[in-house]
Order: sequence, then structure tokens, then C-alpha cells
Amino acid sequence: MKPPDPERLCIHQVTLLERCDFCRSVDCLARNGVFKTAIWRDMLDAVGLKVAKRALADSGVAAPVFCSAGFLTAADPKTFNKALDDNRRRIEQAAELGAKVVVTLTGGLDPTAPDLDAARARAFDGLAQLLPAARATGVRLALEPLHPMVCGLRSVLSTLGDANDWLDQLDADDTLGLTVDSYALWWDPALKREIARAGKRIQSFHVSDWRPETRDVRLDRGMPGDGLIDNRKIRSWLEMTGFDGLIEVEIFSALDWWRRDPDEVVRTIKARYASFL
Ligand code: ZN
Repeated sequence: MKPPDPERLCIHQVTLLERCDFCRSVDCLARNGVFKTAIWRDMLDAVGLKVAKRALADSGVAAPVFCSAGFLTAADPKTFNKALDDNRRRIEQAAELGAKVVVTLTGGLDPTAPDLDAARARAFDGLAQLLPAARATGVRLALEPLHPMVCGLRSVLSTLGDANDWLDQLDADDTLGLTVDSYALWWDPALKREIARAGKRIQSFHVSDWRPETRDVRLDRGMPGDGLIDNRKIRSWLEMTGFDGLIEVEIFSALDWWRRDPDEVVRTIKARYASFL
């Protein structure tokens, strides 16, 4: 299989977290010839919408993807409704920054009400309630299942099969889509089949790598080529469905890549993109 077209490379801002703020991250990408990013909302909040917009315009970097919205599992109705309002604001921010896709997580399990079925039901209901806001702005909510090890902390939705079931039930493929994150889903024996089933629903493809001896299940992602995931094979499964969208490198790496020189990180991603993606 041939390496992907370099134009499809998108590097998530969060990959440069710790050494860069919002503005430095887009400057670093532009300096290294990468002109697509996914916004990381904490980095956006730190500078505000106005500064962020200007940094994107000045650098020439586009932000077709916004990470992340969702977190809709709170048992307390007041907190749940607040989360819905926050999501509506995030959807507007995303549209304002030119993003077409908002990566949406269910959220983890509320420690005050650890009933997994109820949490899933609330997240499903919350997603349904966000559809009008997404439709009004034209952005797609791309539901992202995460690895079962972060079921408690980040996502009560763990498989692409379950995400496909939710989308079947919500019947809103004009506004809802799916995110395939290789780090979250690579272990699943049903992955190839569920990617085929998802087809055109796939709006966002995140890649990183699983280190054989991960030291932190959320914040020790490897660079493609560091670990065990056959990202190229997963890409081939996506492309069998007609997917020709962005290949988004998203690395949470508190112990390694976040500590390195950001220019070195971007240069390494470009080299790995050609050999491992
Ligand atoms: Zn992801």
C-alpha cells in the first residue's frame, strides 16, 4: 500500500501540548509545512476565540476538526443541562473557527451514580438533544468510542459496533458521524467489519500508536511506528468504504513527545507518515 497523499496530513494541536500554546502550535505546524490541525479546546480556552481566529488566519493553518465536545453522563439534571449548554457553545465556536467536525465523547461514569446503563442512556439522550444545534450550524458531531480502559474516566461507549448501533437508532446521518481512533479501537476483533458497516459515517480518523508496555493508558500514546498498531492496515479498511478524508495524528504523550522540541515532533510525524500511515 502506498503512503497517503501528504495533503491529507492533519496534526492535532494537542500533540504539541505543554511546549506550545494555541498560537505557537499553529506557527510550528505552518513552519514545517503542515496546514491542517484539530483544535484542542483547552488550548482554545486559554487564549480565547478572537486570538485563536487570528492565529489561524495569520499562520494559514485550517482547523477542520474540533476536539472535543460531549461529556453527557452527569446524573444530576442541573449538571447534565449545563453540559448541554456548554456543548451548544462548543458547536458555535467550532463553526466560527471553520471546523466541519466536532469530535464528541460520551463522557465517563459519574462517580456519584455509577450505573453504567443509566450513564449510557443519558449520553445517548444528550446526543439526540444536541442535533438541532449541530444542524443549525452545519457541523457534524462525530461520536468517538474510546478504549474500555477509559470507560470510567472518558467514555462509556467503547466499541465502534455500539457507536454504529447508536447511529442506527438516532437515524441522523446528515448531522451525526463517527470518529475512528486507532488507539481506542485497534484491539477489537470486529473492527474491520464495523468500519465497513460505518461506511460514509466516518468523519474523522485519528492515529497514534500503542506502546507494548504502556505506562499510562490515556497519556502515553506513541508516535505511529513506536508500537503495535498497524495503522496502515486500518487505513486500508477505511479506504475500502471510500474514505479519503484526513489522517489525523493525535498524540497524548506526557512522558515523551510532549516533552520534546515541537519542531522535532512535527518533523518526526512527517517522516513516520510516509512509512507507517
Ligand atoms: Zn481521538
